[in-house]
Amino acid sequence: MGKRIYNFNPGPAALPLPVLEEIQAEFLDFRGSGMSITEVSHRSALFDEVINDAKLRVTRLLGCGEDHEVLFLQGGASLQFTMIPMNLLPDDQVADYVNTGSWSAKAIKEAQILGKEVKVVASSEDRDFTYIPKNIIFNENAAYVHITSNNTIRGTQWSRYPDTGNIPLVSDVSSDIMGRPMDLAPFGLIYAGAQKNLGPAGVTLVLIRRDMLDRVPDNLPIMLKYTTFAAKNSMFNTPPCFAIYVVQLVLKWLEETIGGLAKMEQINKEKAALLYNYLDKSEFYRGTADKEDRSVMNVTFRLTNESLEQVFIEQALANGLGGLKGHRSVGGCRASLYNATDLKAVKALVSFMAEFERRYG
Ligand SMILES: *Cc1c(COP(=O)(O)O)cnc(C)c1O
Repeated sequence: MGKRIYNFNPGPAALPLPVLEEIQAEFLDFRGSGMSITEVSHRSALFDEVINDAKLRVTRLLGCGEDHEVLFLQGGASLQFTMIPMNLLPDDQVADYVNTGSWSAKAIKEAQILGKEVKVVASSEDRDFTYIPKNIIFNENAAYVHITSNNTIRGTQWSRYPDTGNIPLVSDVSSDIMGRPMDLAPFGLIYAGAQKNLGPAGVTLVLIRRDMLDRVPDNLPIMLKYTTFAAKNSMFNTPPCFAIYVVQLVLKWLEETIGGLAKMEQINKEKAALLYNYLDKSEFYRGTADKEDRSVMNVTFRLTNESLEQVFIEQALANGLGGLKGHRSVGGCRASLYNATDLKAVKALVSFMAEFERRYG
């Protein structure tokens, strides 16, 4: 095996090594079938077991019971920007959106394209999306409130969700799902593209409270209705079988190797603290997000001398540390510390950063 690097990619991102090894070990002969998982029917008992186990693990890890439906969809988190207003926002109602960066803005735009009435009730655009808005007043009659729980590009994260009273919260949790325990009570729906914290690209997890399904209009295209997939165990048509299988293994790893989301959060906090503490002490680097709102998952930072950033990223890669380039829309640097990136990787990063600072500072 070639040497694996310390992987700080923002998405698709690192997967746990034991999961990759398990995929490799059973790839040619999946659980005694004489076929790989990519070759078996999605209508087979073999695949049923995979998808049902994945669903069960999602509900167990997040502690939600029978009142939520787990769906595996395609089209990425981006298609959810469209499906949410299509399914959950009647034409004579409004929905509240909080704009905390590019992904929120895209969600807002899709709802507007559908001709829906969207109220942007708060935004952090005035300070370049470096913080999470506080003390937001919501419209009493809003159909839902949409937030982005972790802002992958700007490195901010809601540490406490806003109190929306009886209005269901809807959240894009693409980059922090399963990174910490979550109280699902206020949420009508959460969604996540798998490729950050759950598995490979190609499948999107949607967790919808059953009463929200009552809102879905009859006259939508069949592939764009939550009810279609809820009625068919996410298999109205051929699902992304391989991606779902890998998600199942990642969830198993979270439960059986890590020991659940409280443990995962502890580890994630330790990783983030190590890096942020170093950034806070240094004059050479600086974090870009407000301290109280910074993300445990995506640490965004700049070099005080921005002209050194390119060299920093190149030399990091030469030293086995990959994926540290900031998003092309904002520049700078970003270390994504998803669940599969372990403390050892962060220690290696911090020691490289110290060495780089000694050499160029
Ligand atoms: C990556 C990302 C998306 C886009 O996901 P796709 O699956 O590529 O559509 C949306 N929202 C957030 C918060 C993300 O991090």
